[in-house]
Amino acid sequence: MAARDTGRAGREAPDVVVVGGGVIGLATAWRTALRGLATVVVDPRPGGGAAGVAAGMLAPVTELHHGEETLLRLNLASADRYPAFVAELTEAAGTDVGYRACGTLAVALDADDRAQLRESHLLQRRCGLEVAWLTGRECRRLEPMLAPGVRGGLRVDGDHQVDPRPLVAALRTACQRAGVGWRREAATELLVSGDRAVGVALAGGDRLTAGQTVLAAGCHSGALAGLPPEVAVPVRPVQGEILRLRDLPGRPPLLHRTVRAVVRGAEVYLVPRDSGELVVGATSDERGWDTRVTAGGVYQLLRDAHELVPGITELPLLETRAGLRPTTPDNAPLLGPTALPGLQLATGHHRNGILLAPITGEALAASLTSGELPEYARPFHAGRFAGDTGRRVPA
Ligand SMILES: Cc1cc2nc3c(=O)[nH]c(=O)nc-3n(C[C@H](O)[C@H](O)[C@H](O)COP(=O)(O)OP(=O)(O)OC[C@H]3O[C@@H](n4cnc5c(N)ncnc54)[C@H](O)[C@@H]3O)c2cc1C
Repeated sequence: MAARDTGRAGREAPDVVVVGGGVIGLATAWRTALRGLATVVVDPRPGGGAAGVAAGMLAPVTELHHGEETLLRLNLASADRYPAFVAELTEAAGTDVGYRACGTLAVALDADDRAQLRESHLLQRRCGLEVAWLTGRECRRLEPMLAPGVRGGLRVDGDHQVDPRPLVAALRTACQRAGVGWRREAATELLVSGDRAVGVALAGGDRLTAGQTVLAAGCHSGALAGLPPEVAVPVRPVQGEILRLRDLPGRPPLLHRTVRAVVRGAEVYLVPRDSGELVVGATSDERGWDTRVTAGGVYQLLRDAHELVPGITELPLLETRAGLRPTTPDNAPLLGPTALPGLQLATGHHRNGILLAPITGEALAASLTSGELPEYARPFHAGRFAGDTGRRVPA
């Protein structure tokens, strides 16, 4: 039988049902429950999506790409909220989430990489970001295990990290303690009555009605049956492979901060955790729903990471994984009310779902209680691919 715990909603229809208990659904449910709305999360495997695979970089600056300047503002705003979010979550859940204000060093290995890094630096400066250019020697002074060939780099003191697995575990506990209810089964169909979304049908055959429904099912968000044509959810999976290594016991850690580079056009990063884990990521491929780890992906990551930090080949390889980033046509999330009253979206966070969890939870809790997205979230309104302007906001 499917597990059921309807939390504060009891036997009554909850105010809000959140479809998907990944990092985004959980942050949304927690923040919404704290605002006093009876909330239920529907997910057969809460935390089982991309968040369990992600590196956890909180990297608005080093993840900035041309054309994503509007997204930068949201990313920076969420990064600013992280320390307070983590403090509140740690208190609510009673567990540590591995937040580390360690900064990031983005380096170049050859002349082409350096030219590309110079371009990134120009873009960062045009966006008003303070980032220091370092010589190769200065980079190695910060991180002595870097390859001697490093040609230069960018020191980004504000790009930090969190450990996504304990983060999601803490969000689940915080949700539980805030009275969020659970249905551990998949939602199969959006229920619509008249001109309103009224909940979801569940895989076990039940119908869960609710005042408002939030679709937060990661890259599966667009696949829910019953979505009317005026609600566009253009989210596709972008596959990423990632590795976990471990520092050798009794030896100092290989790295002190996140180190990243573009090696022959491919991005590679190394994220050192306080626990001694060293995350090496990540490939990025359009491979549909395929989550198999490939020999080519592992080879590429180890080869590029080894060029950057030769000492990694001594470390034990603990894990290889692949996950699916929920991606929209403009790489930015879909947030808030849709053209169908009663249905809101919290999906499409692509490379930045861990970073954007605090601000997404806050924005959705606001729009679920007031019917309006806060100003900072409006450029990402859920109707933008359906020709909607985002100004008409159904209650
Ligand atoms: C290799 C890799 C590295 C990454 N690194 C970073 C990083 O360093 N920093 C960062 O900010 N982001 C990173 N990301 C991106 C981040 O992981 C995602 O943006 C984030 O996990 C999206 O959260 P989500 O809750 O929307 O989706 P998910 O985490 O995928 O969760 C979706 C949930 O929905 C559930 N679900 C699906 N269908 C249904 C259904 N029909 N009914 C009920 N539930 C359903 C699933 O079981 C799952 O629990 C990375 C991603 C990958 C793959």
